[in-house]
Amino acid sequence: MTTIGNSVRPSVTTGPISGSEKIHRGELGVPARRVHLTNGEHFDLYDTSGPYTDGSATIDVQAGLPAPRRDWIAGREPLTQLAHARAGTVTEEMRYVAVREGVDPEFVRAEVARGRAVIPANRRHPESEPMIIGKKFLVKVNANIGNSAVTSSIEEEVEKLVWATRWGADTVMDLSTGKNIHETREWILRNSPVPIGTVPLYQALEKVNGDPTALSWEVYRDTVIEQCEQGVDYMTVHAGVLLRYVPLTAQRITGIVSRGGSIMAAWCLAHHQESFLYTHFAELCEILRSYDVTFSLGDGLRPGCIADANDAAQFAELRTLGELTKIAWEHDVQVMIEGPGHVPMHKIAENVRLEEELCGEAPFYTLGPLATDVAPAYDHITSAIGAAQIGWLGTAMLCYVTPKEHLGLPDRDDVKTGVITYKIAAHAADLAKGHPGAQAWDDTLSKARFEFRWEDQFNLSLDPDTARSFHDETLPAEPAKTAHFCSMCGPKFCSMRITADIRAYAEEKGLTSIEAVEAGLAEMSETFKAHDSKVYLPITEA
Ligand code: SF4
Repeated sequence: MTTIGNSVRPSVTTGPISGSEKIHRGELGVPARRVHLTNGEHFDLYDTSGPYTDGSATIDVQAGLPAPRRDWIAGREPLTQLAHARAGTVTEEMRYVAVREGVDPEFVRAEVARGRAVIPANRRHPESEPMIIGKKFLVKVNANIGNSAVTSSIEEEVEKLVWATRWGADTVMDLSTGKNIHETREWILRNSPVPIGTVPLYQALEKVNGDPTALSWEVYRDTVIEQCEQGVDYMTVHAGVLLRYVPLTAQRITGIVSRGGSIMAAWCLAHHQESFLYTHFAELCEILRSYDVTFSLGDGLRPGCIADANDAAQFAELRTLGELTKIAWEHDVQVMIEGPGHVPMHKIAENVRLEEELCGEAPFYTLGPLATDVAPAYDHITSAIGAAQIGWLGTAMLCYVTPKEHLGLPDRDDVKTGVITYKIAAHAADLAKGHPGAQAWDDTLSKARFEFRWEDQFNLSLDPDTARSFHDETLPAEPAKTAHFCSMCGPKFCSMRITADIRAYAEEKGLTSIEAVEAGLAEMSETFKAHDSKVYLPITEA
């Protein structure tokens, strides 16, 4: 265990999510969030929250998390998951994710072997609970955290990590750019149950005092090795930003909006050379292979506004990312491809089609995309619209956007809002893709809703606390938790209660459902007339 500095002692949120119990399945101890229902049944949900939501776990952030992968790693050849998969070996990580996803381990191996899925799992991050990113699996969500030169502390960032995974973040990217980058990352890695991603260029830039033109392959290489040693699981590398692509951005409204993209463009222009990320790519592959760090090939020329979507610069870079993907695969290094950004709905499908065609179906990992630019402060929503669509079309991981996007560094509340918003987009995509098991969750909640099992409805939801508090704002009394209505329509016009009454009526009278509906509606019509045909009635009559 790497020693963590004594200068900070973050306190983090612990304890089960309301109404849930942490369970561990099978010999590998795969975690799940078990919701016990009031009808005696239970429902298990995918769980990313690590030991923090385990009521029986002792949490010591100074010591870091237990390391479930340590013995697996020690007991086999130090190959990448891709190399193992190509050799026909089903690793423990593959078996673990198979349980999580409810699929066959051999299916996992085959998807990793053909490069259509990745298991980001640095051998030096044994604390992580394995997960898989690929179009044939559940759509994943990434949450970005990290301090900047302006605000935030290590304590806040560790809590944001725990908080983001509590609400369902499958991976977390540490995008710190301010002071204490190394120490912040150490705290995050040692306490993270999910894969951690970084953009090594940010730290390299700090090392040359923020001057992009002073960057060099040597500074960058040493930074990558430093981060590989610490245990970073995947790295964004903007190796597709080529000198000849930079002029293609000249006519854009928002130019180059990727931090990494603008840094590399500045370097290329200053040196009038192709970037060291591109010219040293094979060497970079060797480094990442020796730790099993996954490439996340960055979209440094992604569009920063609706008008710039799908332009020549964006797709030129994507073509280069396709070439780099093949080089990485030749070195047995796992690869994801990053995507935009800001794209109107009618241009989203082309992004997925081209990515799959040019990059051999390597998992697509997109930021949003925002489907419109006109709603600052609501960009978690503008982007979730695009995210749900691009997820449905085959994108494997969605990078969240918080309400603070374009406006400021997100705080803890923004992180939760961003994660929940993206879990909605991801799950909507899972449903549309027909992922086995996705609809069972909806059906279980729908049934609870129809049967007025309010506690079950709250506890099965993505955010039980908020669902419960919204209900209790107007009907806080305990009997309301079994009442056959809520304050939205009131007791007399609760359509679900009326439907349930119709069914009971049909059963009692031995009628077919159509006859019962007709008879029930006729009776309701009489009731309506008896109340002077008023549509809205005071709920105090309950
Ligand atoms: S009152 Fe309306 S919103 Fe509330 S449970 Fe009944 S149908 Fe649903």
